[in-house]
Amino acid sequence: MAFELPKLKYDYDALEPNIDARTMEIHHTKHHQGYTDKLNDAIKGTDKEGKTIENILKNLDLDNKAVRNNGGGYYNHRLFWEVMSPNGGGKPSGDLENAINSAYGSFEDFKEKFSEAAKGQFGSGWAWLCVQEGGKVEICSTTNQDNPLMPGVGCGGTPILGLDVWEHAYYLKYQNKRPDYVGAFFNVIDWEEVSKRYANNK
Ligand code: MN
Repeated sequence: MAFELPKLKYDYDALEPNIDARTMEIHHTKHHQGYTDKLNDAIKGTDKEGKTIENILKNLDLDNKAVRNNGGGYYNHRLFWEVMSPNGGGKPSGDLENAINSAYGSFEDFKEKFSEAAKGQFGSGWAWLCVQEGGKVEICSTTNQDNPLMPGVGCGGTPILGLDVWEHAYYLKYQNKRPDYVGAFFNVIDWEEVSKRYANNK
């Protein structure tokens, strides 16, 4: 069974004004579709066919650029859509709030560190919040379509929140103002979804 472009749980204009509809549509139907198609091409007829994307990435040979770039792109965007919501924003609660506070002191300090990781990623890449075995959370950033599931990449662990800082994710609305885009992302983070991912992967 080939990988398929996942459907979004909201409309392209649902995250306005934080993320504009045109960017969402191009990002989903062109960029994510492209990674999905190229991933399928790259694994066709190999032992990776039929495996989960998590399995493929965890066992990845980093020299396999086609699977690294497109498998990463497929997984990263799937997570990205899922951790945003028109009803997002605010702060986490419960176990995730406790884990964030114990790692970073407070939600505000976490927000600052995560934003620094996103703003400071030179060129294209992603900022992540990951959960390690045992429940500790950790922020890191990675280049291109890499992610911390890949062996030895970033902080390791399982990504539970990801922010795309490729220019294609924000340039139409924000141009060079990546910090404004990073700030707007916090208005649409679906903390309930992130909390579920924390609970399922800690
Ligand atoms: Mn992207």
